[in-house]
Amino acid sequence: MAYNRDNNDYQPRQMYPATCSECGKKCEVPFKPIEGKPIFCRDCYAKKKGYKNNYNRNEE
Ligand SMILES: [Zn+2]
Repeated sequence: MAYNRDNNDYQPRQMYPATCSECGKKCEVPFKPIEGKPIFCRDCYAKKKGYKNNYNRNEE
Protein backbone atom coordinates (compact mmCIF):
# COMPACT_ATOMS: atom_id res chain seq x y z
CA MET A 1 0.00 0.00 0.00
CA ALA A 2 1.39 3.29 -0.98
CA TYR A 3 0.74 6.27 1.11
CA ASN A 4 2.09 8.58 -1.43
CA ARG A 5 -0.16 11.54 -1.50
CA ASP A 6 0.51 14.54 -3.53
CA ASN A 7 1.12 17.31 -1.14
CA ASN A 8 0.51 19.88 -3.75
CA ASP A 9 -2.96 18.81 -4.43
CA TYR A 10 -4.32 17.83 -1.13
CA GLN A 11 -4.12 20.37 1.63
CA PRO A 12 -6.47 19.91 4.50
CA ARG A 13 -7.38 23.17 6.09
CA GLN A 14 -5.43 23.68 9.24
CA MET A 15 -7.53 25.02 12.03
CA TYR A 16 -6.23 26.72 15.12
CA PRO A 17 -7.95 26.81 18.45
CA ALA A 18 -8.81 30.28 19.62
CA THR A 19 -11.11 32.17 21.88
CA CYS A 20 -13.54 34.60 20.44
CA SER A 21 -12.81 38.14 21.51
CA GLU A 22 -16.42 39.05 21.22
CA CYS A 23 -18.36 36.39 23.03
CA GLY A 24 -15.55 34.47 24.67
CA LYS A 25 -16.49 31.20 23.11
CA LYS A 26 -13.94 28.69 22.08
CA CYS A 27 -13.64 28.45 18.39
CA GLU A 28 -11.35 27.48 15.62
CA VAL A 29 -9.96 29.73 13.03
CA PRO A 30 -8.39 28.85 9.71
CA PHE A 31 -5.40 31.04 10.42
CA LYS A 32 -2.91 31.29 13.17
CA PRO A 33 -4.21 33.57 15.88
CA ILE A 34 -2.04 36.62 16.27
CA GLU A 35 -1.50 37.94 19.71
CA GLY A 36 -3.11 41.29 20.20
CA LYS A 37 -5.47 40.77 17.35
CA PRO A 38 -9.09 40.04 18.07
CA ILE A 39 -10.38 36.66 17.06
CA PHE A 40 -13.99 36.13 16.23
CA CYS A 41 -15.93 32.96 16.14
CA ARG A 42 -18.01 32.27 13.14
CA ASP A 43 -21.09 33.89 14.55
CA CYS A 44 -19.39 37.04 15.62
CA TYR A 45 -17.37 37.18 12.48
CA ALA A 46 -20.51 36.98 10.45
CA LYS A 47 -21.99 39.72 12.57
CA LYS A 48 -19.00 41.95 12.15
CA LYS A 49 -18.87 41.34 8.52
CA GLY A 50 -22.59 41.28 8.22
CA TYR A 51 -24.62 43.76 6.49
CA LYS A 52 -26.97 45.70 8.62
CA ASN A 53 -29.76 45.24 6.20
CA ASN A 54 -32.31 43.31 8.08
CA TYR A 55 -31.12 43.78 11.56
CA ASN A 56 -33.19 45.34 14.26
CA ARG A 57 -32.08 48.86 14.65
CA ASN A 58 -32.23 48.68 18.38
CA GLU A 59 -28.59 49.05 19.03
CA GLU A 60 -28.30 52.77 18.99
ZN1 LIG B 1 -18.01 34.97 19.18
